[in-house]
Amino acid sequence: MNVLDSEMVVASLRKRGYELTDQLTDADTILFNTCSVREQAENKIYSALGTLREFKKENPQKILGILGCMAQKDQELIFRRAPFVDFVVGPGQLQTVPELIEKAQAGEKRQMAVGRSRTDGTLEQVKRTHETFDPLRDPTMRPTPFQAYLRIQIGCDKFCTYCVVPGTRGPEQGRPPQQIIDEAAVLAEQGCLEIVLLGQTVNSYSYGTNGEKIRLAGLLRQLHDVNGIERIKFVTNYPKDMTVDLLETIRDLPKCSPYLHVPLQSGSNDMLKRMKRGYTVEDYREMMDRIQAILPEAAVASDFITGFCGETDADHQQSMDALREFRFKNSFIFKYSERPGTSAAGRLPDDVPYPVKQERNNELLAVQNQISDEENGKFVGQVVDVLVEGPSKNAAREENPGPIRQLTGRTPCDRIVVFDGNERQVGKILPVSIYDHLPHTLLGNIVTEHIGPDVVSLQLQ
Ligand code: SAH
Ligand code: SF4
Repeated sequence: MNVLDSEMVVASLRKRGYELTDQLTDADTILFNTCSVREQAENKIYSALGTLREFKKENPQKILGILGCMAQKDQELIFRRAPFVDFVVGPGQLQTVPELIEKAQAGEKRQMAVGRSRTDGTLEQVKRTHETFDPLRDPTMRPTPFQAYLRIQIGCDKFCTYCVVPGTRGPEQGRPPQQIIDEAAVLAEQGCLEIVLLGQTVNSYSYGTNGEKIRLAGLLRQLHDVNGIERIKFVTNYPKDMTVDLLETIRDLPKCSPYLHVPLQSGSNDMLKRMKRGYTVEDYREMMDRIQAILPEAAVASDFITGFCGETDADHQQSMDALREFRFKNSFIFKYSERPGTSAAGRLPDDVPYPVKQERNNELLAVQNQISDEENGKFVGQVVDVLVEGPSKNAAREENPGPIRQLTGRTPCDRIVVFDGNERQVGKILPVSIYDHLPHTLLGNIVTEHIGPDVVSLQLQ
């Protein structure tokens, strides 16, 4: 979501003649796009601001802005901790950045553009202050020219007790389907093959009222008809909304990737209840059975939080058991970080010591790595379709690359594949034969065109 937000801001600034630079000394404007999900992410920004204090004093004409969720959450606090910051902009006000830069250049100090809090006005008024400006697209800021994020949903209404997102990104709102389809068509015209639909709970997507309500399954059917788009992925899913209709739609639409990121968060019902996730481990198991029955090829990924308020060893063991049972393709595992303003911070003590959170995190990670390795092993000997993204990390560091380089790409189920190829193969979907694997990577060879008996007999005649 933040990568996409940065893309939007860069696009709007490019339209006004700005260029990106990675040299602080060359920059006229320095922008931080921030995250608030865990405290560590915020600490990094405050510490980066600390190192800029002297620089800004010596270069007062350089404009410094803080964007995103930390801006929305901390607001005035940012100016108190770093008075030399020129402006603070929430994720729903990013379209104001060019104007704020101009005003700052004209001498205006400490400007703030943030969304209304949930209790500050009617729902409609609050929603209007959390809108985004997605139709502006800049191909040069994408992960690659042939892949793009496409937001279909803004905000979140689930209010998991640990989570800051419903506060920083505001009420859940589905974007109008026509806007999404039009944007996908623009992306396809720009050469985009893969779109990744974004929402905090993307499969809860809903637009319109009763009679004409459209859900994610309906939207996928419409997006499937956009010429040029070859792959459609969507993240992140909410377990309760993984319906039979949605799973059958994914099964029936060849462009939809069978990759389902559906965070479980914990294997303990006590923890899930305290997190207010709205499902039990049994519900999650039923969902996994539905996935298995309808989409047996699906790769399911999860998130876990270790050391949430009151988590006992027995709770943790239940997370370990769940991990072993559900055999996720991969899991993102986080140590609980208390966030001001969330309901857990208000009423549940953050009572698991940091070293215990760390140890549980490591234990889950070790089991997940083993499972990922075993699951990847099943691909050895198979041929998979890979969207070639570019040189691998190692190859990108080579100083004088030859014509054949190590390339990387992804399968439809989001597995990373590394193989040797020519750079002109970047941006194509190619068959790759897998000969070996690591826990998070498949190793393969591009399958060269097969000359069948028909061709041979033609040559003989
Ligand atoms: N909307 C997504 C998640 C967004 S945050 C969803 O519900 O799936 C991404 C992940 O960060 C969450 O799934 C959760 O595992 C983790 N997370 C959120 N708040 C956290 C906190 N306070 N401490 C630690 N991890 C947290
Ligand atoms: Fe946060 Fe829960 Fe919403 Fe995800 S579903 S963004 S974890 S409140």
